[in-house]
Amino acid sequence: MTDESSSYHYERLTWPEMREAAAAQRVIVLPVGSTEQHGPHLPLDVDNFLCQSVCEGAAKLVPDQVLLMPPMNYGFNWHHIDFPGTIGIAWDNYVRFLLDIVKSVAHHGFRKVLIVNGHGSNRTLIEVAARQATMDYDVVCAAFSYFELAIDALHNIRESPKGWVAHADEIETSLYLYLRPEGVRRDKIAAENNMLPSEFWWQDLEGSGRIGMMEWWSTFSNTGVLGDPTLATREKGEVLYKACTERLAALIREFKERPMRPRVDHH
Ligand SMILES: [Zn+2]
Repeated sequence: MTDESSSYHYERLTWPEMREAAAAQRVIVLPVGSTEQHGPHLPLDVDNFLCQSVCEGAAKLVPDQVLLMPPMNYGFNWHHIDFPGTIGIAWDNYVRFLLDIVKSVAHHGFRKVLIVNGHGSNRTLIEVAARQATMDYDVVCAAFSYFELAIDALHNIRESPKGWVAHADEIETSLYLYLRPEGVRRDKIAAENNMLPSEFWWQDLEGSGRIGMMEWWSTFSNTGVLGDPTLATREKGEVLYKACTERLAALIREFKERPMRPRVDHH
């Protein structure tokens, strides 16, 4: 075994090594994100970079139990298209692309798949894909956003009020400051929240209003920010990153051992 062959990076294995990895039933982790505007102070890779960093950190904690796939770096986000640079994928292409990936790994013998998301608006589509894949491909596929695993840590860290942790906000900026500080344009950091006040609808990583609605982003944000990144610190990012990676590693351990119980046909 070379160092490369014991890697947890899916694409670094050879096909005979892949056959062994499938026999060992390593958990497939597929990071998904989005290439989209994140205000004047953060690059377009925020959702991809943060999600991949969390997946990488978790995989390092359980390297022999997991295979980390090449990421899917484009997402469902046409509502951001008024800001230069954003790349939007249609919902049906997005779901079918995910299903094709899961179909492929299932064909190779893997049966546990985690879709780990970094972009809010992918959330419903990854859940559709995970549910459909589980019905179609003899796998168990689960889907979630990385910060959902550490929602208690997020709650404890945040100083922003409800509806102010949504996009290029205190949390995303803190994580970026911790993981890649040179990418943050500190002189451009500014808060913005022009959402219409509502009893029913707000956006927040900790839990949005129960009304499903997404208007064109440019109708309620001039800068592309929804939140208060002036509250971001490297220290908050470190705490949250560690919480996310540890929780994801714990999930991978549990998911790997989770038995797949047989179906029963009651016709
Ligand atoms: Zn984001």
